[in-house]
Amino acid sequence: MHAHLTVKQAPAMHNLDLPSYLEQSDQVGERFGRLKQRPVVLEVEQLGKEFEGAHGTVTALRDINFRTHRREFVCVIGPSGCGKSTLIRILAGLETPSSGRVLLDGKVVHGPGPDRGMVFQGYTLFPWLTVKKNVMFGLLRTGRGKMVAEQEAMQWIDLVGLGKFASSYPHQLSGGMKQRVAIARALANQPRILLMDEPFGALDAQTRARMQAYLLEIWQNIDITILFITHDLDEAIYLADRILVLKAHPGEVNELIEVPVPQPRSPAQFLSPEFLATKKRLEELIHPPQAEEDINADHLNMVRMVSVDDDVESVF
Ligand code: ADP
Repeated sequence: MHAHLTVKQAPAMHNLDLPSYLEQSDQVGERFGRLKQRPVVLEVEQLGKEFEGAHGTVTALRDINFRTHRREFVCVIGPSGCGKSTLIRILAGLETPSSGRVLLDGKVVHGPGPDRGMVFQGYTLFPWLTVKKNVMFGLLRTGRGKMVAEQEAMQWIDLVGLGKFASSYPHQLSGGMKQRVAIARALANQPRILLMDEPFGALDAQTRARMQAYLLEIWQNIDITILFITHDLDEAIYLADRILVLKAHPGEVNELIEVPVPQPRSPAQFLSPEFLATKKRLEELIHPPQAEEDINADHLNMVRMVSVDDDVESVF
């Protein structure tokens, strides 16, 4: 599977005659038209977050506004420190905003709730519980009887393809399998939205590609809206209907991109003109070309480091 191409593997795309990432085929345009008719699940209004640090106030997020429609897949991308984790923690109710608000199905979010499922990068399963008991955990807490919880848990475990491993413990599973259990556990509570913070970041490239395809399959089969944080451009384009691009210091919305790649997605699209055009745009936004003055300043600093340290090897 070629779901994880790097820039170097792609043909020199800056030299290709690519269409604009804003161009949409009729099929894609119609899909976005339908998507926008769907009810809004998540609304983020004028959201801001400031932290008091040892060196003064840090504005982690400023004036964040966006909406997510039912069964939409939104990826959030941006350079390190642009507030991605802060945003998802506020959406999860683990952090309170300094200004603005978050609404889920029109109701203001205060604190965590079963209407939001979460999957993080670290494996968050209970190591002392079997796969089945991990998935049953939330179901029992929301008042289901043991039999019902067991039946429902097994349905979700089957959905993620781990029926044979229901009695296994997390340490007996691979990284990808653990994240599948985490997805089953999050979905079992039937949340309105699934919040995923770099869930595949710790996996090797091949497993990651499999998990991406897998997540798309699950998403297509159930009624779930997904907000997914990543710093991987290919992953964002492959998965998302729209990509929210943030910029850092302060964390603000740079652009909200409608991905022009048709659905359903397949790894064969990684080299399509629409895919490459979107990737080019994301690269412009996230890694803007360094200004000439900055390059000169960097060069000067290097020369200074060499002459001060007199240690060429440490620089080159
Ligand atoms: P990202 O996930 O995009 O890397 P974060 O949300 O982790 O960004 O952080 C955004 C900014 O807020 C950074 O400058 C970070 O140092 C700051 N920040 C995050 N959490 C805290 C905190 N608990 N206290 C102080 N500053 C924080």
